[in-house]
Amino acid sequence: MTKQETHTLDVSNVCRQVKEAYRQKNKLSVYHGTTNSTRSLRFKTGEFVDISKLNRILAISEKERYALVEPNVPMDKLLRATLKAGLMPAVVPEFPGITLGGGIQGGAGESSSFKYGGVHNGCEEYEMVLGNGELVKASANENADLYWGTACSYGTLGIITLAKLHLLPAKRYVRLAYRTVRGAEEAVALLAASARKDFDYIDGILFSKNFGVVMTGKLTDDNQNLPIATFHKATDEWFYLHAESFSQRHPNGEECIPLVDYLFRYDRGAFWAGKYAFRRANVPFNRVTRFLLNPFFKTRTMYRLLHTTNASQQYVSQDICFPQKTTLQFIRFVDETLNIYPLWLLPIKPALHEKLAPSWLQDNLAINVGVWSESTRDADKFISLNRTMEAVAKNLGGRKTLYAHAYYTREEFWKIYDLGWYEALRKKYYATDVFPDIYEKTNVSRKYTPSLRKGLWDFIKSPFKIPIDASKPE
Ligand SMILES: Cc1cc2nc3c(=O)[nH]c(=O)nc-3n(C[C@H](O)[C@H](O)[C@H](O)COP(=O)(O)OP(=O)(O)OC[C@H]3O[C@@H](n4cnc5c(N)ncnc54)[C@H](O)[C@@H]3O)c2cc1C
Repeated sequence: MTKQETHTLDVSNVCRQVKEAYRQKNKLSVYHGTTNSTRSLRFKTGEFVDISKLNRILAISEKERYALVEPNVPMDKLLRATLKAGLMPAVVPEFPGITLGGGIQGGAGESSSFKYGGVHNGCEEYEMVLGNGELVKASANENADLYWGTACSYGTLGIITLAKLHLLPAKRYVRLAYRTVRGAEEAVALLAASARKDFDYIDGILFSKNFGVVMTGKLTDDNQNLPIATFHKATDEWFYLHAESFSQRHPNGEECIPLVDYLFRYDRGAFWAGKYAFRRANVPFNRVTRFLLNPFFKTRTMYRLLHTTNASQQYVSQDICFPQKTTLQFIRFVDETLNIYPLWLLPIKPALHEKLAPSWLQDNLAINVGVWSESTRDADKFISLNRTMEAVAKNLGGRKTLYAHAYYTREEFWKIYDLGWYEALRKKYYATDVFPDIYEKTNVSRKYTPSLRKGLWDFIKSPFKIPIDASKPE
């Protein structure tokens, strides 16, 4: 069978399952074996559609610069394949295990997002299974409301079974310039000014109240005699530690990073989230221990461990998008109330039509603030802290990325998102009775019971995939 024939067969199975659920009014989630969400997910037989087989790249057209990609293809596999044709996606989220489908549905972005927006903005067309089991195409010209609406909808409008992804010419390196800043005000101003210039990549890290770095990158084939830094080997430093020490030594320094190392530079250590695991396990955090424990600190493994130990209510993990004009106020709130550093700053081109996108904001530039830190072990205090962040973000016109824990009440949630538009779209495309709605799907309504011992055992039993169990679905 050709890849296309296998695809057609697998998709017809998905259509059949959804059609049956539609007939019986059963709610279905999407299962694909992994997740980069921090919410605990459980999948019960009969209550999900398994799309994990949809992990093939059907075609890459070098001439017309596009790829036909099934949704369960992870970013590292996608990049490897497109690079063979000298091409790359415009937006490659920082973690290699993020899948194309999850990236589209979860609003994934990265340091080229100031120029291109989210992963979904690189997709010209989707093949989708609707709630009644019908297979349709969605693009800016065909079913345009579905095409724009499905971005960041967490699988609540239909199931993507294929995406036509636009590709760009790739280069060997990213030439990265580090500019130190003396605090949030300078960081936000420099990010905004850089976003108006001709860079390919921009992001920033605030290491403390008075020290941070803004990094701007340009694709290049020539390393121009600059030092070359890599970030994939156990002997390499975690990127954020390197960025801090490099920029302290060279406040206006530059270096070249091989393309794949650059795009996945935050994989080892999950930005800096891995540091908190060392602390929790009472293991010293130094170059030797990072080297020895390297296999456990790649994001794929870290996510499995986070889920098996059920520990995510002990770590703040939020990405919140703000209009540029209120970003500073949010950073001040985090500084004064939570005192969390480092903070990640990512400029994003505002969404124009994608009403569920975190970057659907009224400003010329959106800035995502990544707040990731260890937190209290008291679940009530943890929830209360998250509720405070949600209230502050809402008052400042911010929107959360919903991979994270959300504790909004239904009323609060639908004051942020457009319920009338969303319900009409779900009705039009037969989603209402088959797919859980976005509030149900992203709200955390219970307290988790963490367990290190059980978690390690569950991890050993299933290190790579979310097992299917008999509990409540996602
Ligand atoms: C510390 C931290 C840092 C992060 N940093 C970044 C970052 O730098 N850049 C970034 O982009 N993201 C980041 N994320 C978030 C991540 O991008 C999102 O969680 C993304 O959605 C993950 O994709 P996934 O493949 O794991 O999808 P999943 O989590 O499995 O899926 C997301 C949603 O999409 C649905 N879905 C999946 N496939 C389909 C499909 N084919 N059809 C319909 N619905 C589907 C799922 O049901 C789910 O509701 C970060 C997360 C954390 C915790």
